[in-house]
Amino acid sequence: MVKLYTLRYEFVEFVPEQIEPGVLYISVQYKTMAHLCCCGCGKKVVTPLSPTGWELGFNGRAVSVSPSVGNWNLPCQSHYVISNGRVQWAGRWSKEMIATGFARDLQAKHDYYNALSYREPPAETPSLPPPSRKRGRLATKFKEWWSRRSG
Ligand SMILES: [Zn+2]
Repeated sequence: MVKLYTLRYEFVEFVPEQIEPGVLYISVQYKTMAHLCCCGCGKKVVTPLSPTGWELGFNGRAVSVSPSVGNWNLPCQSHYVISNGRVQWAGRWSKEMIATGFARDLQAKHDYYNALSYREPPAETPSLPPPSRKRGRLATKFKEWWSRRSG
């Protein structure tokens, strides 16, 4: 499989059945775009043009597509940004996913240190047990017994 780093564009009325690699077909009439996955796997990727889908940028020479194209439904799982006719490979994780993963990692660390602090001894000095009356009585009894024995 040959990764593509550039993408041409072709404005068409209908996206043809057989499409060429390295070409982004744009149908303004039907508000859709299609191309073969830029990783070279040969799968057709359709990116609908809509406020909730993709946006097309055309500077007169090259096209840009936003947001990035993430082919999570394809076996290749490729992810790239089409910007000014160039394919910028973005890796398997989007920035948002990394941010979420990083936040989760931070939270896990925070929880870990919180759990550790519970195991630390309390800061205040533990109070001594109150003097035992029982022991006092025993001591008195012992004294009595000792005085009787010696006396
Ligand atoms: Zn692919």
